[in-house]
Amino acid sequence: MDTRASLSILLLLFGISQASPFMHELNHALGFYHEQTRSDRDQYVKINWENISPDMAYNFQRQNTNNQNTPYDYGSVMHYGRTAFSIQPGLETITPIPDGTVEIGQRQGMSNTDILRINKLYGC
Ligand SMILES: [Zn+2]
Repeated sequence: MDTRASLSILLLLFGISQASPFMHELNHALGFYHEQTRSDRDQYVKINWENISPDMAYNFQRQNTNNQNTPYDYGSVMHYGRTAFSIQPGLETITPIPDGTVEIGQRQGMSNTDILRINKLYGC
């Protein structure tokens, strides 16, 4: 059984849908950071520090992540949206580069890369 199916069944048992912010929290529980704090993130997103609430800036600090040879994933359920922790509604705190229109911050469910990372980390 693949990981997505296993997790879906597990979550159904607990009455939780895959289309839920729960998948984000589950990935934290499994040991994953927010995508935009990846060690190589500066090649993929620009952090607009001037638009971030100073007391929330720690959420954007780069981490020494093990990326497991997976590509940076704008579609990760672990990626913040572009105005996360903004000092003012609508001001961007994260801008994808080079294409600033790429969608980030989806919470519909795990991306294929999210699932691949779980497979790699847990060998399942
Ligand atoms: Zn989170």
